[in-house]
Amino acid sequence: MAPPFSFRVLHTDGAARRGEMTTAHGVVQTPAFMPVGTRGAVKAVTPRDLREVGAEIILGNTYHLWLRPGDGLIARLGGLHRFIGWDGPILTDSGGFQAFSLGEKRVITEDGIRFRSHLDGSEHLLTPEGAAEIQAQLGPDIAMVLDECLAQPAPLSAVKESTERSARWARRCRDRFLQLRDLCAGEWRLDSETSESRTRVTNPGQAQFGIIQGGTVPELRTLSVERTLAIGFEAYAIGGLSVGEPADTMYSVVAHTAPQLPAGSPRYLMGVGTPIDIVEAVSRGIDLFDCVMPTRNARNGQLFTSEGRLTIKNARYADDGGPLDPACACYTCRTHSRAYLRHLFVSGEIGAAVLNTIHNLRFYLDTMARVRQAIVFGTLETLRQSLQAMFSRPLSDS
Ligand SMILES: [Zn+2]
Repeated sequence: MAPPFSFRVLHTDGAARRGEMTTAHGVVQTPAFMPVGTRGAVKAVTPRDLREVGAEIILGNTYHLWLRPGDGLIARLGGLHRFIGWDGPILTDSGGFQAFSLGEKRVITEDGIRFRSHLDGSEHLLTPEGAAEIQAQLGPDIAMVLDECLAQPAPLSAVKESTERSARWARRCRDRFLQLRDLCAGEWRLDSETSESRTRVTNPGQAQFGIIQGGTVPELRTLSVERTLAIGFEAYAIGGLSVGEPADTMYSVVAHTAPQLPAGSPRYLMGVGTPIDIVEAVSRGIDLFDCVMPTRNARNGQLFTSEGRLTIKNARYADDGGPLDPACACYTCRTHSRAYLRHLFVSGEIGAAVLNTIHNLRFYLDTMARVRQAIVFGTLETLRQSLQAMFSRPLSDS
């Protein structure tokens, strides 16, 4: 059966789209930001906090969950939603980027990515079929295909070869995904342990996104779009960006690629980015984002506020009794002073990570709400300029 996945555009402002994405575990208002929960947990916060800050969809990581605690265990316990206690939409990436990031510990062949685990050095092979099977067992609402990530800059021939391989892998990954869907079609069985497959499909409503590669070469991006659309997925992501290229290069690849993707499907820009990157990409037609920046920066005491960036350990906040961000209504800003947050941070208290993460995620999700509102009212350009002014200047406290 086809997944209960759909997308509709409600408003547009230039190339920007205000939309609604429906998944097996609920509706997501777009453009949307997905907090990153690599190991099945968004660091320092609970699912209850995520709901309170306004998260509608979160991201998990196939590579990490496969190696520990294992997709088989998660499937036996009812799938990722039940395992982590989050009943809203979940997207998992394919694990290709993490395997790629292992550097010398991995070898890429036509079969897949052979690598040694970062945990215990054990050897594993991640194939396109395997990525589909692992994600069938994890049961996110959106699974990603396995693609090859390439370090940039790379010679043109290497980018071309990698783009072609990613397209072949996408075909294999889609074929396996569709086989698994057929295996559990007809009845909503949680366990499809048949002779054909020992993979448990824990979320029969799962959708699968293809990924456009092609580095920074417009012709190869177009080639990748053609190959990937020919296979056919519920929606498409733009991968291989935010890997060290200049911001302008990223924006121009997005501007080149996004209009070639179907208007009736959401478009996901993987691993992006800063508030400026997000509004720039939205204005070029992107609908979905994920990035570790709000959560990682929070743990480092780097906070996003309506007045710009703020470094909480700065001595000037030692006796500042005011809220972290006067314009923010999150739990942290309603409850605690900058002085207290600074004290927690310099004392190394766990609570610093918790309170800072709650605020940074709320800031990102509030920013997405402002982006959506601006699209409805046709004022995205004004919002883009104000975010540019706020975040392109030096730290407000430096
Ligand atoms: Zn706040």
